[in-house]
Amino acid sequence: MYRIDAEVMIPGRGSPLSNATVVIDGDRISYAGPRDTAPAGEHPTVSVPVVMPGLWDCHVHFAGVRDGASTQEMMLTPAPLATVRAAKDAEVLLQAGFTSVRDLGGYGVHLAAAVAEGTLAGPSIYSANKVISQTGGHSDAHRLPYQSVSDPCRANGMQILADGVDECLKAVRLQLREGARVIKVCTSGGVVSELDDPYHRQFSDAELRAVVEEAGRAERAVAAHCHGKAGVLAAAAAGCTTIEHGSQIDEETAAAIKESGAVLVPTRTVFAALKASLGVLPPHWRDKVARLADEHLVSMQVALSAGVQLAAGTDLGLSRPGTPLSFGRNGEEFGHLVAAGMTPLQAIEAGTAAAPLTLGGQAPRSGLLEQGYDADVIALSANPVADISVLARPELVTHVWRKGKPVKQ
Ligand SMILES: [Zn+2]
Repeated sequence: MYRIDAEVMIPGRGSPLSNATVVIDGDRISYAGPRDTAPAGEHPTVSVPVVMPGLWDCHVHFAGVRDGASTQEMMLTPAPLATVRAAKDAEVLLQAGFTSVRDLGGYGVHLAAAVAEGTLAGPSIYSANKVISQTGGHSDAHRLPYQSVSDPCRANGMQILADGVDECLKAVRLQLREGARVIKVCTSGGVVSELDDPYHRQFSDAELRAVVEEAGRAERAVAAHCHGKAGVLAAAAAGCTTIEHGSQIDEETAAAIKESGAVLVPTRTVFAALKASLGVLPPHWRDKVARLADEHLVSMQVALSAGVQLAAGTDLGLSRPGTPLSFGRNGEEFGHLVAAGMTPLQAIEAGTAAAPLTLGGQAPRSGLLEQGYDADVIALSANPVADISVLARPELVTHVWRKGKPVKQ
């Protein structure tokens, strides 16, 4: 048992509470509420200014690359080296207050095993393993010989190419076989992929339906990478659980997302970071970012006005400290959500209570300070409701408990 007395408790959903207490019993929260009515008992107690649920980043890549987070770079990086780097990134995330993350393409299934056995002090990791892409699509490495990309069992990297319903089914099953907790598919072109166009749709309706149905049989959510309107509409129509990026959302598209029940993970952090670094980007990245970045912000605003459910995710994945794309800056997404029109409490909910929605049937009871939920809890020396940028400063995260275990104090 462990007791946290806080001047302010931010529950994850609903209003903050002053003079609150959270009691952790094993890996669960056994009490969260007013201090007056907290259960009596002699427990180790810590007093903190602010307590809230551990944060979620619903879109990272444990890719272990240091020079450009592309499929090609990942293929050229030996997997053991990449995994060691990614393990360091997982530690950085946990110390920054992130107790849960979705890895949407990377070595997360292996890190998750290391976290589960206690070898690695990282967040709870829900990994897609490899990204399912059509040949020539967003997760293909367009300049490498086809044969070197198309055999996912031999190649390093985060791509699996699939064409036709049968290969899509096989691709999902191969990810399940390797321990994927969520399935990632590309329904449009992308930014870092050289020869495709983010406004072009990828995969047919039949292929996408096959992916979603096969994932659903194993209670896995499907995360759809998509930028242009056609790709977003295709993902929503196929029943994908989440829309990742969603760079071209007008009112019709927002209505379709809402109708389908999909969650939008806008990943504004990566757009803002790339937009700020235009001068050093490879030419094809630069052109695509310049075309997409402003439209993406408008899309977030349109989706918010239409009442689409948002969740916080960054798309960060560079294992090189100190760059705009480095791990540890994940809390910047909360500021971007507020800049797009959310209140600080809504932004916090998008990265706590609402985040497990992105995992469908694999969702844990996490993201809320409430009796019975996982004891994923953080304490802060300043209040993010008053200043959302607090969440982007790991040094203000004074304590972290993951599943009841203190990992920063
Ligand atoms: Zn991504």
